Amino acid sequence: MAIKKETHEFKTEVQQMLKLIINSMYSNKEIFLRELISNSSDAIDKLRFESQTSPDILGDDTEFKIKIMPDCIKQTLEISDNGIGMSHDEVIENIGTIAQSGTGAFLEALEAAQNSDILAPELIGQFGIGFYSAFMAADKITMITRRAGSEKATKWESHGDGSFTIEEATRESRGTSVILELKKHEKDEKDFSDEWTIKSIIKQHSDFVHYPIVMDVEKDEPIPKEEQLLDKDGKAIGETTKKVIKEETLNSMQAIWTKAKDEVSDEEYKEFYQHISHDWNPPLKRLHMKFEGATEYTVLLYIPSKAPFDLFHDKKGHGIHLYSRRVFIMDDCKELMPEYLKFVTGVVDAPDLDLNVSREILQENSLIRNIRRNLVKKVFGLLEDMEKDDYEKFYDEFGQILKIGIHTDVENKNKISELIKYKTTKSDGKLISLKEYVANMGKEQKNIYYITGDNLSSIMNSPHLEQLKEKDIEVLLMSDPIDEWVVQALTEYDTKPLKSAEKGDLDLKKVDEKKQDEYTDLFKFIKKELQDKIKAVKASTRLKDSVSCLSGDTYDMSAYMEKIIKSSGQKTPDNKRVLELNIDHPVLAQVKALFEKDPSVPEMKDYCNLFLDIALIGEGGKVENPARFSKAIGELMTKAITV
Ligand code: ADP
Repeated sequence: MAIKKETHEFKTEVQQMLKLIINSMYSNKEIFLRELISNSSDAIDKLRFESQTSPDILGDDTEFKIKIMPDCIKQTLEISDNGIGMSHDEVIENIGTIAQSGTGAFLEALEAAQNSDILAPELIGQFGIGFYSAFMAADKITMITRRAGSEKATKWESHGDGSFTIEEATRESRGTSVILELKKHEKDEKDFSDEWTIKSIIKQHSDFVHYPIVMDVEKDEPIPKEEQLLDKDGKAIGETTKKVIKEETLNSMQAIWTKAKDEVSDEEYKEFYQHISHDWNPPLKRLHMKFEGATEYTVLLYIPSKAPFDLFHDKKGHGIHLYSRRVFIMDDCKELMPEYLKFVTGVVDAPDLDLNVSREILQENSLIRNIRRNLVKKVFGLLEDMEKDDYEKFYDEFGQILKIGIHTDVENKNKISELIKYKTTKSDGKLISLKEYVANMGKEQKNIYYITGDNLSSIMNSPHLEQLKEKDIEVLLMSDPIDEWVVQALTEYDTKPLKSAEKGDLDLKKVDEKKQDEYTDLFKFIKKELQDKIKAVKASTRLKDSVSCLSGDTYDMSAYMEKIIKSSGQKTPDNKRVLELNIDHPVLAQVKALFEKDPSVPEMKDYCNLFLDIALIGEGGKVENPARFSKAIGELMTKAITV
């Protein structure tokens, strides 16, 4: 029984995006054709991949192609492929929503874009919303698709407003047709049903698609002599040519990675990148080379200029496309790049690879492992050789993910440590490398100091850094959650230990032991008062102006790590810290005097709690009992102010 026509609402974010697309002033509307062709090409890739394990899926239809059918009278344009197609459920899943994983970030970006009337092109590319870009050129889109191996077809239709409809349909064989009812175009705008316009768009944006993109074209063909109307002298008196319709292939299908570097223009490299990555931004860097040796293979890799919003989500990316002698094997070949370099996109063509290789076998494949090792080396080379400005752009987008490698790739840890950068207490907002940090170290300085926390300005001003600043020692400011894992794995750089400014002894200042002894009883009292909350009380060697701070022992968990773990909903082990008090601060002498006079006065309890609260606030943390804190401060102020 045929399923009735169903109407579905687009998800809110899709509705918002469609509104933007439809009203957009985006000038390069022709890009939609590249997006639809790339989708068709991907769909044929998928079919071929699936056919390796189920050859029957192809049937007689083994001539892969993408057909473009314009109708300039009706003002429609159809893009049709014989790829994998989609089932009813797949259509709803793929075409009804976008960027499931990055929705939050996407909505933010949308809001920002809504305030300007131009649709930021990267918004479309980054969210993989290529299909919807067709609404820049069409008032209505119909998609008829039939999944390979299924008898049923599905028809999807939308005017790009709030909803779409879905119903059962028929389609002669597997694949997908997208039919656009073109928008009325202004005189100075392109007519996307015009043969020449289509030809030139395809030449420019989709020339290297490795399946034929065909179109029926009207041609003049000579009429054979015997069919011509001739006079008595044998001269033609009628037409000598006739109009015929012929299918013409519009793209050269040249695999650009097989060409010599000087035969490929920057523009072609860029177009190819945009085709395989579905990113609308130009790439930042590329690497095109042939590896020669025991086994030969060619690579064309790109580093994007912008991180996709869902970089950290495990969404299937476009990643590295694996080929063997220009025959596509698979996209998103995760085995060729470690997780922390997953932003690298491109092609690897390895002639010695078995075409029927499966994803499972790849992990065990020694050739793949060998290629991966070399690719990683080359990507490092690319990053190391980047101009400063480019590297900063790169680091801004991908620094966070790169740092994961320090924790996960023991072999390349040292290399990555040369690539990471931090702002410091002395760098004036600029990022510096560990090498630069070491070069700036004073003769006496033995450690590389760092502090972690989620807020740059609060760690920059943390009381923990007072003595370090006093001694003019630079401190790395680590404000990415991943930095907590970096410092676990990277315990030293260039033989200099990395030392947390909030843990252990900083080797900076000796405590005046005599003076410290005078505080023994008071400290015991404070420890007893706060015993559930702290591990010990001691005289600080970190502080200069502040009264108190909290520190950990060298191997304790930092406050930031504790916060990260808690926010992920996990339990943290009991992580009490040490309350450090500044015995050079006048308030300590006062409290000591009060304590020695009469330790039982009620204020003593308040002061103990205040020492702890001040320490927490100083590091940007939260006090346990804000109401008690403000009440105590109010009372103190009342007592202190005598006019
Ligand atoms: P992207 O291609 O970046 O994933 P799109 O919005 O263009 O984003 O497409 C969404 C999904 O719809 C694709 O990932 C694919 O699964 C499916 N799709 C789109 N076009 C086709 C097609 N011609 N044949 C089969 N599936 C398609």
